[in-house]
Amino acid sequence: MNIKDKVIIITGASSGIGEATALKLSKEGAKVVLTARREEKLEELKKKIESNGGEALIVTGDVTKKSDYEEVVNKTLKKFKTIDALINNAGLMPLSYVEKLKTDEWEKMVDVNIKGVLNGVAAVLPTMIENKSGNIINISSSAAHNYFPGGAVYCATKSAVKMFSEGLRQELAPKYGINITSIEPGAVSTELTNTITDEDIKETFKEMQKMTFLEAEDIAEAIYYTLVQPARANINDVFIMPTQQQ
Ligand code: NDP
Repeated sequence: MNIKDKVIIITGASSGIGEATALKLSKEGAKVVLTARREEKLEELKKKIESNGGEALIVTGDVTKKSDYEEVVNKTLKKFKTIDALINNAGLMPLSYVEKLKTDEWEKMVDVNIKGVLNGVAAVLPTMIENKSGNIINISSSAAHNYFPGGAVYCATKSAVKMFSEGLRQELAPKYGINITSIEPGAVSTELTNTITDEDIKETFKEMQKMTFLEAEDIAEAIYYTLVQPARANINDVFIMPTQQQ
């Protein structure tokens, strides 16, 4: 599709992949709805988008709260009348070894990485079903393909997102023309590792950081590529790794 004037909701827009995606899609003419918890970061991004000639709406919220999502959708519909795409990007990755039993962190990952995606889909589907069109792009991870140290729970959440995307595609694409994609990046240079509290894992990551990571803009390009396909073509998965990552 041509994304000029398309209305696209991006969760986790306050940093990293979400921020880069909002910049890319707004530069290509989309009207972007920016959501995350850190309002000041969203305000900065909105200013940047507007100074590039783009249009953005901010609706702050927590993806784990259904009521916040309903507000995102209601405010989007009030301002832009429709929803063409949802990028379910918000996520966190407090890696740790299972034996450390950081069960609060496991729960947060399940809540944000899985339930957040479910909440997003539930909130936008009535509009997309009525329109008989739309794109839902879920940010899974290479962690849905490969385990890495301390990643047992994170990998499980991202596998859930990948499989949920396939289920959505089979149920929604043929019947309603709603295209569904799972994006599965390897290591991207963002703030994602900031939530790690396990000291052993932090050491592992220091070693890994010697490699050249993907940039958030690389994932934004993959998302753009997915969105501009003709409606007849559903990009199921985009599995994208840093050249140096095994
Ligand atoms: P960042 O930490 O830069 O971005 C994460 C975003 O998620 C932030 O904007 C944050 O906003 C938002 N977020 C976190 N919790 C919530 C919540 N409860 N409600 C609403 N928003 C929330 O990391 P990335 O850009 O790297 O991560 C984006 C996605 O990409 C994640 O799903 C991640 O798992 C995935 N991914 C990342 C990879 C990487 O190597 N970086 C590799 C593969 C996948 P705020 O704090 O303002 O709410």
